[in-house]
Amino acid sequence: MAWKVTVDQDTCIGDAICASLCPDVFEMGDDGKAHAIVETTDLECAKEAAEACPVGAITLEEV
Ligand code: SF4
Repeated sequence: MAWKVTVDQDTCIGDAICASLCPDVFEMGDDGKAHAIVETTDLECAKEAAEACPVGAITLEEV
């Protein structure tokens, strides 16, 4: 099962929590915002990051 991970670029405050918790799924861009790889099977890690995001910018959708 795969999950589509999205970071809302307007909401992200660029604190890099997701990238430090789950570096295989999230990386910080030159724009100072987090970017997610589009699909992952590592739900555990992506979910942990989504729950830790202080502004709720991360959404997970089953694909
Ligand atoms: S944890 Fe949330 S606010 Fe912080 S960089 Fe990741 S998406 Fe942005």
